[in-house]
Order: sequence, then structure tokens, then C-alpha cells
Amino acid sequence: MYFGAHVKSSGGVWHAIENGVEIGAEAVQFFAGSPRTWAPTLYKEKDAARFREARAGSPIRFVVIHTIYLINLASDRPDFYEKSIRSLSGALAAADQLGADAIVTHIGSHQGSGFAVGLERVRRGLLTALAESEGSPVRLLLENTAGAGGTMGVDFRELGQIIDAAGGDPRLGICLDTAHIFESGADLRTREGVDLVLRELDEHCGRDRLVMLHLNDSKTPLGSNRDRHENIGDGDLGEEAFRLLVNEPAFEDLPGILEVPGLDGSGPDRENLARLRALVD
Ligand SMILES: [Zn+2]
Ligand SMILES: [Zn+2]
Repeated sequence: MYFGAHVKSSGGVWHAIENGVEIGAEAVQFFAGSPRTWAPTLYKEKDAARFREARAGSPIRFVVIHTIYLINLASDRPDFYEKSIRSLSGALAAADQLGADAIVTHIGSHQGSGFAVGLERVRRGLLTALAESEGSPVRLLLENTAGAGGTMGVDFRELGQIIDAAGGDPRLGICLDTAHIFESGADLRTREGVDLVLRELDEHCGRDRLVMLHLNDSKTPLGSNRDRHENIGDGDLGEEAFRLLVNEPAFEDLPGILEVPGLDGSGPDRENLARLRALVD
């Protein structure tokens, strides 16, 4: 595994590369605009070129845009649903401009309609966004959830069903968030727990669907269904879980991206990256 971080991209998107390099990251993730507004970001060509140039001269090996938190591809509200698809599609277009490798998105909640009804909405949303970005090399990654009320994609079984429903498009992939899967009940603190997760990945999705990890410790206990990220080693997952994860051969060539609060509360930092690297055998 190689390590990266969610970074700020304000004041010019190329700053995301500088902000990553500054803390020693080899992969960066950022929002393409404000995470709480719907308006899709379209970069000026000169800004996108400046980003691509900055990346080319840097040690950054992987670039991913995180979609906004408002997206709900399973929403039962037509206006919200349409805006979600527009936003997903917009993120793919922005990623394409920057030459990013992927976008990652939370799928959303069926809000009580049930998984099957939600699945049909998600299927249509994903197919629309994939069709609108046809020919683009940018991967569309679905993130597992902590399992709070009605959220879609709590485990590899659900993620596999969603990918299958969308026709198994080769651009679809998975981002495994370590805090979320622990909060949903998978115990990554033991060898057996990690092996079980890998078996479920193989069975329901196939190993090559896994494109990246979010490396976050958890402020809440196993199976809490409550999503609260903690700095590496300081939460309920703890150091031993991350020792297993960073040395796992199945994850050898994948980016592991931090979304932790940081020691001073200003986001992923050099210290959290150092903690991960110190666990590599
Ligand atoms: Zn995450
Ligand atoms: Zn989270």
C-alpha cells in the first residue's frame, strides 16, 4: 500500500497537489467544489492544465475527487435525485479535466423505501452518469457505509448487487473505508476478521473491484453504525488493525487515503502518515 490524504483544494485546484506533497502524501483526494453546495465545478482549462503540470512533476501517484455529501442516488425525492445524478456526472467531468484517476461517492439512503427500491434508483443514476462520461478513463468508486438507517452499500454483498445492477461496468469500483466497515460490524483487529472481509470481497465483488482504501480509525465501537473518524491508532480500531491492513498483500498496490481529524484538528497530517509508515514491516 502507498499512502495519501484528503487535502484542501481551495485557492486554485493545483494547491491540492502542493498540499499533499507538503505532508508527504503519495495520493490525494479532494472536493471539486464546496462539499455542501450543488453547483457542479467546471475548471478553467488553464487551471486544469496547471493541476496536471503540478502532478506530473510530483510524487503523487493517485488522484481522486470525493463527491459532495449531499448526493443521494437512492432518494425518493425527484428533485433531490436529479440533482444527485447531475452532481455525480459533474464530478466525473471535473475529474476528467484534471486527468484524475477516479471519483469516490457515498451512494445514499433509500430512506425507508427498502433496498430493492433504492437499488433501482441507484442503478439508473449510475448508468446515466457512466453514459454521460462514456469513453472517459475515470473510475467511479462506491464507498461502503457505516450502516446507519437505510444507507446503501453497507457490505460487499450490497456493493456487489449495486455493481451487478449497473451492468458490471468496468469503470465501477470500490473504496473500502476502514472506519465504516468496522462500525458496520467487521472486526479488522484480527487476522480472521481481515480474512473474512477479503473472502466477502472475492465472493460478492471480485478482488479487482477494490481500487482504494480510506484509512481511518474509529471513535465509535465495533458495530456502532455511527460514523466518526479518529486519528490512526487513537481509536477503537487501534494500531494492530492498521498493522494488519498496511501489510496485507491484497492491498499491496493500492492507495490508502487518510480522512482523519489530524492532531491539531485541521485534517490529515504528516504525523498520521508517519504512524502508518511506521507499521509497515
Ligand atoms: Zn471515507
Ligand atoms: Zn466516514
